[in-house]
Amino acid sequence: MQSDSPLTELKGVGPALAKKLEKLGLNRVDDLLFLLPLRYEDRTQLVRIGALEAGMRSLITGEVLLAETAFRGRRNLLVRIGDGSGQLTLRFFHFSRQQQAQFQPGVHVTCYGEVRRGQKGFEIIHPEYRVLKKNQDPTTSDSLTPVYPATEGVQQGRLRNLTGQALQQMTRSPPRELLPATITEKLGMPSLADAIQYLHRPPPDADVTQILAGTHPCQQRLAFEELLAHYLSLRNVRSLAATQSAIALSASDDDVRDFIQSLQFKLTNAQQRVIDEILGDLSAPHPMMRLIQGDVGSGKTVVAAIACLKAIACGVQAAIMAPTEILAEQHWRSFSDWFYPLNINPAWLSGSQRAAARRESLEAIKSGSAQLIVGTHALFQEGVDFKRLGLVVIDEQHRFGVHQRMALREKGVADGVHPHQLVMTATPIPRTLAMAAYADLDTSVIDELPPGRQAVTTIAIPDSRRNEVVERVLSACTSGQQAYWVCPLIEESEVLDYQAAEASYAMLTEALPDLRVGLVHGRMRPAEKERGMRAFKEGIIQLLVATTVIEVGVDVPNASLMIIENAERMGLSQLHQLRGRVGRGAAQSHCVLLYRSPLGHIAKERLGVLRDTNDGFVVAQRDLELRGPGELLGARQTGLPEYRIANLVRDAALMPRVQMTAEAITRESGTIAAAIVRRWLGDAGRYGKV
Ligand code: ADP
Ligand code: MG
Repeated sequence: MQSDSPLTELKGVGPALAKKLEKLGLNRVDDLLFLLPLRYEDRTQLVRIGALEAGMRSLITGEVLLAETAFRGRRNLLVRIGDGSGQLTLRFFHFSRQQQAQFQPGVHVTCYGEVRRGQKGFEIIHPEYRVLKKNQDPTTSDSLTPVYPATEGVQQGRLRNLTGQALQQMTRSPPRELLPATITEKLGMPSLADAIQYLHRPPPDADVTQILAGTHPCQQRLAFEELLAHYLSLRNVRSLAATQSAIALSASDDDVRDFIQSLQFKLTNAQQRVIDEILGDLSAPHPMMRLIQGDVGSGKTVVAAIACLKAIACGVQAAIMAPTEILAEQHWRSFSDWFYPLNINPAWLSGSQRAAARRESLEAIKSGSAQLIVGTHALFQEGVDFKRLGLVVIDEQHRFGVHQRMALREKGVADGVHPHQLVMTATPIPRTLAMAAYADLDTSVIDELPPGRQAVTTIAIPDSRRNEVVERVLSACTSGQQAYWVCPLIEESEVLDYQAAEASYAMLTEALPDLRVGLVHGRMRPAEKERGMRAFKEGIIQLLVATTVIEVGVDVPNASLMIIENAERMGLSQLHQLRGRVGRGAAQSHCVLLYRSPLGHIAKERLGVLRDTNDGFVVAQRDLELRGPGELLGARQTGLPEYRIANLVRDAALMPRVQMTAEAITRESGTIAAAIVRRWLGDAGRYGKV
């Protein structure tokens, strides 16, 4: 925005306070403008005591009638005030002698707080208050009072003061209007400065409900510009790629054709179409930047393998990176099986590798004797030198943030030549979201599952019928099938997560003494996890108890039953992903969603979606609709950028217009586009420093 000056230039901000504000992400004066209130208090009018109702947060004024201390467990200060229409008690648990002395009968006070029903009529506990001087009138605010997101040690009053100063600065030198007038007029948008001013200090008659829902035109105005900034920034990366050079991988397609013929299965039409798109990109002298979206089990790996094969046939190295060791190992096995007959040497690189093995891999990567490199993000750490990296494949890209994706793009650059990049995700996100999140990528969709796949039959059963479910596991496993038991996801706590898994494991081993039960959870060392997964894959373990670590990619065709505990607490897309672990073999597969009753209306509907469809795109769309405002897809989970004001779920509908506007601006003025990006993302443009 306009003022890049440090916060210490504001009155009352010293280094100590500046440090606390930093925790709120506030570094410059302008950052305060984007710190929007969480809610508002109405101190624009005085409410008569006689008109109060329990639960109201109101500004009241009155005369002190009586002040006394009372003991009820601890000492309370009770101040009774009246305004002619009624009486009210102010109750303090903590108070100083000096405070006590203030409340002399006859003085007037104004106070603000939440009204509740006490023993003797209404009371307010620890109100904010002010003792009025003689003949002083109580002051009301001209605007609603903002309540900001709190940070330790910074009082609301202070934040109001600081945002007030920032708003004054803004009024003195209003930010330049960067959106084209055609857009702001067509959409009836307020100016940037008006929108900011309004949201920080709404007028008394503002539609607060609308603001809290995030749909007020002023918020939409800001969200629009922010989404636009991110979009433009990603598009920059994209158009930059068109000017960068890459090795054109354009040798004949014979190897690819032979490989496809050697496969045990016939590619689906969707796979074939996507492969053609990729081969087209690869043959150009500019880096490919393509995203493959494909539901779980749609066969993305073989498509990636074909891209790698093409690269290797053209004499360059290909690298494939997966987010977990288990998944990388699985790729290692598939790729080894496929490429062994072709005399292609893969190298393995992961974080848990022993030093000697790592050194050997690094040498092979450097000398070029390793044509294909499979691994985790260890692939892109310091000290990994590729001989001639031509293609990078990133699997399950939603596990990596958007910034990581950008960083990787730079990693393989040698002599100004960029590797081609293929990213794959099984989290199908609705089109509008994809527009925002992947604006730097071309997108291909594998919208078809290999033939013969059976849709997974999904049912929801209350927790109270857990015994029946255990019986069902027993009969499935006794008849030679395998099952997953997925434990409740406990957000934000790996420890609880793992305890829950241990508890389920104990319960199941006790209930099913004749079954071979294994346990895999997020706190195990990768090697341990791997051992558990392998034992399951080899059929040594019949029932695998797991936390959601099994979410991505594991392939055990003999597993045909999945139980998911506390399903009501998980996201729909995540449940869909989990369920994709079964239904990979010939047997009819089932997924049982265990839930804790009673289920709320939305939860019921959510589980119903999974029962009704096996299509990941439909699931994602319904997920978006049902979540409603306020519940943003986490950036970590989805690889989506983080926003200050916009909320992709809430504001998804803005995207088509954002896209159109971006195109118009780019066509008309590069400097305006750059200014918008700078305003919201800072000088680095945040993505792909260019
Ligand atoms: P995802 O898209 O979830 O990564 P995978 O690539 O792991 O899916 O494929 C799932 C399974 O389907 C693998 O066992 C794979 O070999 C198999 N597969 C892939 N394509 C086909 C196909 N066209 N026909 C039959 N099976 C296939
Ligand atoms: Mg996969």
